[in-house]
Amino acid sequence: MLRRKAQPVRSVDAAVRELVADMFRTMDLEEGAGLAAPQVGEPVRIFVTGTGERDVPRRAFINPAIVDVGGELEWMEEGCLSLPGIRGSVRRPVTVTIRALDVDGREFEETRSDFAARVWQHELDHLDGILIIDKMSPIDRLRVRRQVKDLKLAAGGDG
Ligand SMILES: [Zn+2]
Repeated sequence: MLRRKAQPVRSVDAAVRELVADMFRTMDLEEGAGLAAPQVGEPVRIFVTGTGERDVPRRAFINPAIVDVGGELEWMEEGCLSLPGIRGSVRRPVTVTIRALDVDGREFEETRSDFAARVWQHELDHLDGILIIDKMSPIDRLRVRRQVKDLKLAAGGDG
């Protein structure tokens, strides 16, 4: 599931809003800054964000797309709720403009240059089957090699 490309949401209906509510609950329970639908077993293009701790707004992004990036490329350590215990440095653009639908099906666009922009990029990667272990610095990838191998075994062999 985590390696599949998620499909666009056709219409923002009650079922979508229910899934979004479930995702917020899961994100809060796991104390994450964001969560993508494939992480809860749903292969659709939705993610949620929110943590007061680092000024990431509580919001759902349906059919999100990054429409512009800018600023420097910056290394920052990331973790992932789907890869327990694994953390590593990932390099991403600092400034991102994202466009998505909200839970009422209305399009919005936002530009950030802070931790929220980092979370958007991490969660959007999940919708394309990309994980932080694919983007980590080579030295971090080596460092977490054993843990990744153990996770793959636990998941049944092919990750
Ligand atoms: Zn993640």
